[in-house]
Amino acid sequence: MGFDPSTLEGQVAIVTGGGTGIGRGIALEMARVGAKIVIASRSVEHLEPAAKEIRQTGAPCKVVQMDVRDWDACHRMAQEAVNAFGRVDILVNNAAGNFRVPAEELTQNGWQSVIGIDLNGTWNCSRAVFPVMKQQQHGNIVNILAFTDRGAPSMVHAASAKGGILTMTMTLAAEWGPYGIRVNAITPGRVPTLGTQRNLRLGLRRGEEDDLGGEEGVAQMQGTADDSPVGRTGSPADIGNAAVFLCSDLASWITGVHLHVDGGRRLGTGGLPADTPLRRPAGS
Ligand code: NAP
Repeated sequence: MGFDPSTLEGQVAIVTGGGTGIGRGIALEMARVGAKIVIASRSVEHLEPAAKEIRQTGAPCKVVQMDVRDWDACHRMAQEAVNAFGRVDILVNNAAGNFRVPAEELTQNGWQSVIGIDLNGTWNCSRAVFPVMKQQQHGNIVNILAFTDRGAPSMVHAASAKGGILTMTMTLAAEWGPYGIRVNAITPGRVPTLGTQRNLRLGLRRGEEDDLGGEEGVAQMQGTADDSPVGRTGSPADIGNAAVFLCSDLASWITGVHLHVDGGRRLGTGGLPADTPLRRPAGS
C-alpha cells in the first residue's frame, strides 16, 4: 500500500538536511512518487551517500553543499535547483541543530547558533524559493517542527526557534496562499536518528565527551517507542509519507496547518501497559 507512484510526477523538491535521518527519509519518499530531488546541507559526506540511494529509486538527485544560515547560499541553492531541473515546487525546511543545555547555562553564542540554523535557516530558504514559486503560481513548503505541545527543558533555543517556525508557517500560508503556495508543518514524534541519539546523551553537557549516547541512547529511544498508543517506533519514512501527502493534490485545500506525526505519543497511554488489549495493535 502506498501513494500512486505519479503523485509528485514532474515536481522538483528541495530537502534541507536531506543527507541524514528524517530529511533523507522525506527525500526518498518524494523520489519514490516521481519528484526530482535536491538535497542540501553542509557536509558532502552526508549528502553523497543519500544521493546515491535516492538515485536508485530512478529519480534524479542533485547535491548542494550549503549552510542554511547563509542568506546568499540559500539563494544559490534555489538557483541551482532551477538550473538543474527548471523549477522548484517543494521546499522541506528540515535542517536543524541543537544540543542539551539548561537555560541558565546557555551562552549567547549557543542561542544564536541554534536560532540561526532552525529559525533563520527556515526563513532564508523559504524566502529564497518564494520568487520561483510565485512565478510558477505553484509551490508547497513543509516545515519540520518539534517541541510544539509543551515546554522543552534543556532545549530553550530549539523550542523557541520551532515555536517561531510554527507562527511563520501560518503567516506565510496566509500571505502566499494567493500565489498558489501552500505552507504547512509537521511535528514528528521521536524518530531514531543520529540527531536524536545526540540529544539523548544522558547527563552530558557541552564540553563533555561527545559519544552520541551509544547503546544507552538507542535503548532509551526504543524504550519510548511503546510509550505511544500506536505502540511502535516511528521511522523517517513515516514523516516522509506525511510530507508527500501535504505536498500532493489530495491536500490542495490544506494550508497553514501543523500535523502531528507521532503515533499519538503526545496523548499519553493512561499508564496502560503495552500488552493490554486496549494497547495491542489491531489483529495481533
Ligand atoms: P539529523 O539527522 O541530525 O538531521 C539534521 C540535518 O540538518 C543534517 O542532515 C544536517 O546536515 C543538517 N544541518 C544542520 N545544520 C545545518 C546547516 N547550518 N545548514 C544546512 N544543513 C544543516 O536529525 P533528525 O533527527 O533527522 O532531524 C531532522 C528534523 O526533524 C529536525 O528539524 C528536527 O528538529 C526534527 N525532529 C526530529 C525528531 C526526531 O526524533 N528525530 C523529533 C522531532 C523533530 P549537515 O551536518 O550535513 O549540515
